[in-house]
Amino acid sequence: INYVGGAGSITAAQFLQRFIINKTPWAHLDIAGMAFSKKAANLNPRGATGFGVRLLNNLIKKYYEWNMLEKTLSIIKPDAIERNLEDKIQEILVKKGLAIKEKKKVKISKEEASEFYKVHQTKSFYDELCGYLSSGPIVVMVLEGENAVLNNREIMGATDPKKAAEGTIRKLYGLSIDKNSVHGSDSIQNAQKEIQFFFKQ
Ligand code: ATP
Ligand code: MG
Repeated sequence: INYVGGAGSITAAQFLQRFIINKTPWAHLDIAGMAFSKKAANLNPRGATGFGVRLLNNLIKKYYEWNMLEKTLSIIKPDAIERNLEDKIQEILVKKGLAIKEKKKVKISKEEASEFYKVHQTKSFYDELCGYLSSGPIVVMVLEGENAVLNNREIMGATDPKKAAEGTIRKLYGLSIDKNSVHGSDSIQNAQKEIQFFFKQ
């Protein structure tokens, strides 16, 4: 979409930039297509102008969608990998509207786990927690979707599987408060840090 018409006309990209990126509070849209010479067709929503308006409308919606989509980090912990629950857990996440954008199976060292769980360093279970996350292979994933951070936490359920709601991953598969099958970032800010931790560009 880069046709430039007569003097003063702009491309769709320029239009989007003015309207969205520069936060111009108004925009004048005047699209004429092949049917320009046929007045009736031009006013018809099925005509060229209608088509152009719909196209731009879709573009703007898509732009917002792309920018609104949140990312979160998900980990399938050693207890779940050990029991071959990898596919089942992924299936639940996808079914609930989260797209798996990145995925890798890794085994991290205790030092790396300690770095990852640094926020918990004052907790009594810190050492045990880091030992556990580094005890076997894990699958780390970047999930994307609307409200991905909160949505993923809901799908996971409460930290303690005994308290997790029906249908949640932890209720279904969690063994105990420490072997609770999955991890999920708890805020957008932490999600960014955690994604960076595992998927450094
Ligand atoms: P995660 O960060 O793994 O997604 P969470 O956010 O639900 O879990 P946190 O409070 O961040 O829970 O605790 C991190 C992890 O530490 C938990 O997933 C759990 O495995 C472990 N943990 C939390 N509380 C305890 C506890 N009282 N005893 C043992 N382990 C615990
Ligand atoms: Mg947490």
